[in-house]
Amino acid sequence: MSITLVPCPLCDFDGAMLPLDISDEDAHIRDYGELYAGRSKSEWKACGRCGFVHQNPRPSAEALNEFYARGSYHAPLRVDPHLVLWMHRGAYSDNVEAVTKGTGLQRGSVLDLGCGYGIALGEFKKLGWTCYGVEPDSGRVAFAHETLGIAGVRCGLADEQLSAPERVDVVISHHAFEHFADLKSVMRGVRNVVKPGGYFFARIPTYFKNRSRMSILYMNSGHYSMFTHESMSQLLAPYGFEHVAHSYLNKSGIDLTDDLLYLARYTGVERDPRQFYQSPAAVQRYVNHTNPVRSRVFAPVYALAYKRLAERLRLNIIRYGVEHPFRFGRLVADRLTGRAGA
Ligand SMILES: [Zn+2]
Repeated sequence: MSITLVPCPLCDFDGAMLPLDISDEDAHIRDYGELYAGRSKSEWKACGRCGFVHQNPRPSAEALNEFYARGSYHAPLRVDPHLVLWMHRGAYSDNVEAVTKGTGLQRGSVLDLGCGYGIALGEFKKLGWTCYGVEPDSGRVAFAHETLGIAGVRCGLADEQLSAPERVDVVISHHAFEHFADLKSVMRGVRNVVKPGGYFFARIPTYFKNRSRMSILYMNSGHYSMFTHESMSQLLAPYGFEHVAHSYLNKSGIDLTDDLLYLARYTGVERDPRQFYQSPAAVQRYVNHTNPVRSRVFAPVYALAYKRLAERLRLNIIRYGVEHPFRFGRLVADRLTGRAGA
């Protein structure tokens, strides 16, 4: 059995956890094959001491790391990387702006944890930044090298072994921290690669300030943790990082997600994480009761945003077909004959 009860991933509390009511559907659990041993959905708890929202019980860190290292997570999403690049055009501009404005750095060095195809790094590269990244999926690393020309991306996991050719000005991550099983190992790695006075930026899905039930759907088998700005500060405090700014809003207003954008500075001063503990009962109430009310209020707004996002994706696919007719034609032919696109 690879599913086990774990102490709180943030504060190590191993007493009673508060159960959370989450969605009846878990669209991702089948992607994980044997990891969930026949369960139909994951279980989520608020830590009984610090209020951190996390999946518990869960697959062991070893089982999950092995799963990611095999590149299994993205296996069901086989599409042409060039098309993916086009579809995600502009999707990282919020992050780039949050980093450049929040840090005041117009250029420097940046390392992306779980950088995927390297699309966000590509945006930094255009601005003249020196780019590094780590990504477990070798197909995506090859894309970053060959298509985007980012030689600083390497294949591997984000953990305490994290290294880079130089200490960087900024460590960034986009939708990665919700996947990490061993958060403390990741933070030890981040501390090793960031310059004194450097920055840490994370964009993560969140249940907090949610606009719809989408944030409850985030509590699925594909994720391990759901952060707020307070639990992010709690994670970072013992490693010498200090909160600079955070936001729960997307600049574009058409993104699919309820996201937290969080920026911290590495001061090296280790601080007591207990000042960021949240009330477990209040967190449980927020998730179990407040959310459906907010969902009803915000669902129409959310539906409109979703429609606009879908339109943008369709438009990008059409533009791709116009600018790369032969590549697009081959893609369609591959799809029709049942061959994988990537
Ligand atoms: Zn805790």
